[in-house]
Parts: sequence; structure tokens; C-alpha cells
Amino acid sequence: MNNHLQSRRNVIKGIFIIVVIILIAKLFYIQIINSEYKRSSKNNAIRPETQQAARGEIYDRNGKLIVSNKASKDLMVIPREVVEFDTLRLCELTELSVKDVRTKLKDAKNYSKYIESVFSQQLPLQFSLQIEEELNFFKGFYLRVNTSRDYNVKVAAHIIGFLGEVDEEKSHEKYYTKGDLEGKTGIESSYEKQLRGKKGMKMVLVDALNRTQGSFDNGKHDTLAVHGKNITTTLDIDLQKYSEKLMQNKIGAIVSIEPSSGEILTLVTSPNYNPKQMTGRARSKNYSLLYNDVNKPLFNRALNGTYPPASPLKIVNSLIALQEGSVNVHNHVACNGGFEFGNNKIMRCHEHPNLVNLKSAITVSCNTYFCNLWESFYSKYNSVYESYDVWKEHVKSFGFGNYLNNDFNSGQKGFIPESSYFDEYYRKGRWKSSTILSMSIGQGELLCTPIQMANLASIIANRGFYYIPHVIKRIDNDTIPARFSKKHHTSINPQHFKIVIDGMEQVLENIDGTAFMSKVKGISICGKTGTAENPHGDDHSIFIAFAPKEKPEIAVAVYVENAGGGATWAAPIATLVIEKYLNNTISRPILEEKMINGNLTNK
Ligand SMILES: [Zn+2]
Repeated sequence: MNNHLQSRRNVIKGIFIIVVIILIAKLFYIQIINSEYKRSSKNNAIRPETQQAARGEIYDRNGKLIVSNKASKDLMVIPREVVEFDTLRLCELTELSVKDVRTKLKDAKNYSKYIESVFSQQLPLQFSLQIEEELNFFKGFYLRVNTSRDYNVKVAAHIIGFLGEVDEEKSHEKYYTKGDLEGKTGIESSYEKQLRGKKGMKMVLVDALNRTQGSFDNGKHDTLAVHGKNITTTLDIDLQKYSEKLMQNKIGAIVSIEPSSGEILTLVTSPNYNPKQMTGRARSKNYSLLYNDVNKPLFNRALNGTYPPASPLKIVNSLIALQEGSVNVHNHVACNGGFEFGNNKIMRCHEHPNLVNLKSAITVSCNTYFCNLWESFYSKYNSVYESYDVWKEHVKSFGFGNYLNNDFNSGQKGFIPESSYFDEYYRKGRWKSSTILSMSIGQGELLCTPIQMANLASIIANRGFYYIPHVIKRIDNDTIPARFSKKHHTSINPQHFKIVIDGMEQVLENIDGTAFMSKVKGISICGKTGTAENPHGDDHSIFIAFAPKEKPEIAVAVYVENAGGGATWAAPIATLVIEKYLNNTISRPILEEKMINGNLTNK
């Protein structure tokens, strides 16, 4: 046993001695024999520099380049190596204040004395050239080759998104260093991992004057940065440009979708900004300006704006009544200006031919008819609770009340109240169908977002199903999320869609239709106007539509805030978008001009 222990000790001793000999030999080789090391030990230092990868480019659905890169340089700092320097001169070269320079140095030290931090990002060329010449006066600083975003368009800012400095927490993750940029919103954020590529590492020889002397050991120890993956979006950038132009000087949103795939063709929020404003050194100044703008250009109304669905919900209520068998499509209702309910209350209607059935009630948007439809649906069940739950579950199957699980990292789910909400508001057992009658015409508690409304148009176009609206079409050498190719069926049977679609076609085709003035010759558009009551000011103008009626190629939702009825602004704008997409020419130039030049921001 002892012998065995002794021999193990000898083996360990032997290994130890061999290791020491190897180390001595290596040191001898480095310091005495190898000239490369010899040179570097006398005059040069080796500095590991990360090599930034260029981000992937972003294209539209037709291969048009939307976002690319341009060369830029970042000033980096390794706090441990910093020696006293001329602060004022550095301020001049970086356009930073003395206070900023001190704060940045302190922050970099707190982050790590040994690891590099970004000191100043995306230096303009003339500055980076000047800094390069004077680097010997700024020990511990060096320039890192990088790229910054270059935009080929002035539109789609909210979809593209912008880059910003990584959060403090994230800066300690393996991939990032303090001051690095990452996608903060839009596609830049949702597909950050694919777009950012892979950093490389270069061992750089630096002389005593802080000048780089090229790669150490002929770059044998370097790894190359890998370009980020290019992304093709579902956007039609020309249609996006056109849609943004129609929405200039207006507040609201346009979302258009290809129904057969759920691909988002345009996603407009207005007002917005030029994507260039959120890049480069003016970014934080511009961000504050936009943030403080009273019309909130940073707020993405298409995804986050919650509005009442208004009259387009009459389509959903029709489909629910058809599915539950609570409506006879042949029966007519006489509309004499409104629907009486409760104690002498009346839900008013507007002028239209007196007798309406389901189809024509959609065409003229008769409130009286849909109040009747609501009441007969509710009378089918034993209690208002049972009816409400049946109704609510149908509504949910249209994608209302949830985030839709799309590929944007911001959004709102809207609001579908539970019956307990009414119990709390009116007390349990004290509310009935007429208490919540306003939901029969899409006013009241229910709230939704423009993207959900575009999805509704898409569902009707598809006669009962949808794909999650999404903006990713292709990622080079990668796959797109599987959830975007999954069909979601509503709780309504396909055969019930025919009559509501016929009614929607007449909205534009029939002289009594609420959007007859927006009819486009040669295109069978099916649409529905809406007017959302707004307690803070004028009504919001709403229109949802799809076209052509058979084999639909585009479904659209338009919201124009404080613009009045749906027929005034939203319907003309939606039909112009449809005409542009399907025909690529506009047959109504006067209407087009009126829409483009209309200014509703001061209302
Ligand atoms: Zn009516």
C-alpha cells in the first residue's frame, strides 16, 4: 500500500517537473529566441480587439433593399491602460462635454477595468481620422471598426425599429460589451439574434505610441467576424410609402395583410419619423424630441392603439347569429330612426331605406337592425350570463382580446370584458342584454387594435380562418417561426360568410351603401365603415375591407382619429391603398390629392 502511494507521489512529482521545464523552455523561446515576441516585448503590446459583425440587411417582399450598413468607427477604452490625457482635446474630438467624458470613463471603470467599453459610438469620418492621428496622446483608447445602419427609405421606421445601447444587465452577457448596440424595437429587436451575426477576435500589435502595427503572428490567432443573416420581410415597401403619404398630417393607422398567408404588406402608424433620425450621434437628441412631441410619433398605433371596433363588429355579430341560428336572413326589420329599449331610451339610426334584412342592414349599417339581432340572440338562452359567454367565445375566436402572437415585441391585446366585469359595474344580476346593447353596434366596452381589425378583414376574406399576421418572410440560412404557417379557424362555419360578404360588397356598389363614394371601377371591394365614438373629441373614422371579392389578395384596416364617419377619410384611404396594390395606378386622382393633402392634426 505504502509503495503504491509512494509511486503515485513520484508520478505527480514527475509531471510537475515536466510542466515547469516546458514553461521555462517556452519563456526562453519567447524572450530569447523568437524575434516576433522579442520585438513585441520591447516595443509592442498585444491587444485583443473584438471585430464587430455587420448586421444582416433587410429587404422588402420584392427584394428591394430597405436597410443596409455603412462603415463607421467607435472609440473604445480599456480603463486600466488609460494614463493622464488632455480632457478638453478629447471633448473636441468626440463632441462630448467634460462631464460626459468623466461619466463615461467612470462607467467604463465600473463595468470592468480590463475589458473594453464603447466610449463614443459611430464617429463621423473626419473625427475618426483626427483621433487616429492623435491616439498616442490617449493611451488606453483605440478605434474599433464597425458599421452603422444605412436606410434606403424614409418610411417604415416603426417596423424596422432602431438600435440602442445594450442594457446594463445584458452588457455582461458573453456576446456584448458595454456600449454595444442591439435592436430595441421592430424587426431589429425581434430578429436581433439572426441580424447581429457573430463577432470575431483580432490580436493586434500596438506600439509604444498606441499605434496599431497589424495583426500579431500574421493573424494566426484571429477569428473572423461573421456577417449577420439577411432578412426578407413581407412588406411591400412601395405600398408602405404610398400609405404613409396618405396618412401624412393625420393621426391613426393602416394595416394591410395578404389574407392567404397572414403576411403584413403595410403597417403604418401616423405621425411617425424618418428611421435616419434614430441612428448615429444625434439619436438621443432626436429621441427626446420625438418622445416629447404632443402627437406621440414614437407610439405605434397600429399595434398599441386601442379603439372600439365600431360598426365592423356588426359583421362579427351577424356571423355569430348565423352560427347560433338566431337570425332569419329573409326577415325584414323596419327602421324608423332608432331602436327603443329600457325606460324610453333610444339607440339612434341614420337615414336609409326603411326596410332592411341582414344583407342590406350591413350595406346601410342599420343600428336598429343590429339591436334587434342582439336581442333575439340573447333571448335564445336561459340567462344573460350564458348568452354573453357564448358570444364572447365566438368573438375571441376572431383573434380579439389577445396579442395574436405576431413577431413584434410590442402590442396590446385589446379588451373583451368577462361577465364579472359587468357584475362589478352594475351589480350581480342587475344587468341584461339591453344594458350592454351598445356592443351590438361595436361601441361600448370592447376594444381592439388596428392590426386585429386588419386580421378581421383577413378572416372574412378567407371565409373563416386566419394566419397570424407577421412581417418575416425569409431569413437567409435559417427558418422562420413555424407558428406563422398554422391555420387558425374561427368558431363560425364557412358557409355563413357568403351573405355578410355580399352585404359588404354592396357597401361600395350600392348607392345606399355607406362607402358608395369610395367605389373603385373594375375592383370588387368588400368593406365596412365604422365611426368610433370618442369621449375626448371628434369621432374616429374606420374602414375595413378586402379585395377582390373572389380570391382576395389584400385585406386592410384604416383608423383615422378625430376624422368623423368612416366614409369621410378611412374608406377613401383604404380603397386607394387597395387600388394601388392591385392595379398600381389610381383612377381617382382628385380624391387621392384630397386625401394626401388633408390635414387633420389640428382638429
Ligand atoms: Zn337603421
